Amino acid sequence: MKYIFVTGGVMSGLGKGITTASIGRILKNRGFLVTAVKIDPYLNIDAGTMNPAQHGEVFVLKDGGEVDLDLGNYERFLDINLTSKHSITTGKIYRAVIEKERHGDYLGGTVQIIPHITDEIKRRIKDAAESYTENGRKADVCLVEVGGTVGDIESMPFLEAVRQLVGELPKSDIALVHVTLVPEDNMGDHKTKPTQHSVKALRESGLHPDVIVGRCITVMSPSTKRKISDFCDVPSRAVITAATAKDTYEVPIEMEKEGMASVIMDLLGLGERSANNDWYRMVTVEYTNRITVAVVTKYGVEDVYISIKEALKHAGRKLSTEVIIKWIDAENFTDADFADVDGIIIPGGFGPRGIEGKINAIRYARENNVPLLGLCLGFQLVVIEYCRNVLGWKDSTSEEMGPGKHVIAILPEQENVTNLGGTMRLGDCEIDLKKGTRIEKLYGATKIVERHRHRYEVNPAYIAEIEKAGLVFSGSSGTRMEVGELNRDSFFLATQFHPEYKSTPSHPSPPYLGFVEACAKSKRV
Ligand code: GLN
Repeated sequence: MKYIFVTGGVMSGLGKGITTASIGRILKNRGFLVTAVKIDPYLNIDAGTMNPAQHGEVFVLKDGGEVDLDLGNYERFLDINLTSKHSITTGKIYRAVIEKERHGDYLGGTVQIIPHITDEIKRRIKDAAESYTENGRKADVCLVEVGGTVGDIESMPFLEAVRQLVGELPKSDIALVHVTLVPEDNMGDHKTKPTQHSVKALRESGLHPDVIVGRCITVMSPSTKRKISDFCDVPSRAVITAATAKDTYEVPIEMEKEGMASVIMDLLGLGERSANNDWYRMVTVEYTNRITVAVVTKYGVEDVYISIKEALKHAGRKLSTEVIIKWIDAENFTDADFADVDGIIIPGGFGPRGIEGKINAIRYARENNVPLLGLCLGFQLVVIEYCRNVLGWKDSTSEEMGPGKHVIAILPEQENVTNLGGTMRLGDCEIDLKKGTRIEKLYGATKIVERHRHRYEVNPAYIAEIEKAGLVFSGSSGTRMEVGELNRDSFFLATQFHPEYKSTPSHPSPPYLGFVEACAKSKRV
């Protein structure tokens, strides 16, 4: 097993996750089997309880792990399915060590950050790397992204664990990539001082980078690279520019041009291999069409909806259709805001804020034959809108939102849940699709597996009446309604599951493909 550790300097938000995923893609295009681990140095056990407006989307893995959005980037870039093991947090590490201490496993010893915490970190990294298989084959390379910024108190035990691994593993089994900021001054000159300082901070942790990735707006000149090389003891060829790309999927292509592949393969003794460029071709297919899609949101931060954005992009590339997103504030819009869009998406969400606006947007789509895709909460609101405006049950709502007729009710197993962390209906689940419905045609199957993250469901007491009124529940798992659609020409479909979590450039999600195709067909603008 070879390890590539990716650390970050200067500031957060430099695109370490995309850099990590891109290095993985570069190796994958050369036939290596790659897996990836994200370390988040916060004390939360997982991302499930974190406010998405602060932290970005909570990504959901097949085993139900609620994790940082970077794991979504790894899955999309690398076409892999990760598990909760691939998300390591300070919370998980300390909990495990403290549980062992209570159990008496340390036999009276004093439990300390070194060696007990660092041992637990190393054990978990190795376990995540070694346990990953695809068709019975183990990974060749494991990427490990250390979240946070070098110099933070929080990430110190993780950097110490990496330092120990450098000493323990053969030199050719481990490479360190440090991502830093290389700002440009008014004259357009690249400034290397922040990089010098962050490499210095890294060295204080006992780590020496093998590769420096400089995030900048334009490509660094050879003389800037030489300067970084001189100050930071890294060969010039291992100073790689990560200039701002048009699209994140183009980052690996840019890194190829910078010579990342041979630098990494030399460091890890992986020999010479040329790349299969099919993936690069796929993510740069020319657009011949363009649509505008409204996403009605309450959080107002694009990172909250990253999987939806990416799923639209995947479907769009497949159909050579550029998808422009118009973000609509659920609490502040009028019907006129939809005049220039070709379709409407109602994404997932929690709590009552913004739901009346979302319900109005659904009514608009239903009445005006505008393609509509509802996701999770969006599915529940499709049901509520139908009950209110077609069945005439004006007080219909979800139990989550307050008093009224609860056409959406709490899942039975959720009734007595008091802990919020990791207790929703989460992860992969098998779903049956009704033959002859739109959803079944989109998937081309009557059994599918998709991921969930919710606590409420369509109230079984009302299913028959709602269906009688014309809303078709075309997907279900047991007694649980999973898909709702209208049997009509214009696309009107909503899912209780989140199809965006499984969408990748190579396998665009069927509901998204259907939606984008419908928008392109009925294009209004
Ligand atoms: N709040 C809703 C529920 O818990 C929907 C969740 C979501 O959209 N992810 O059921």
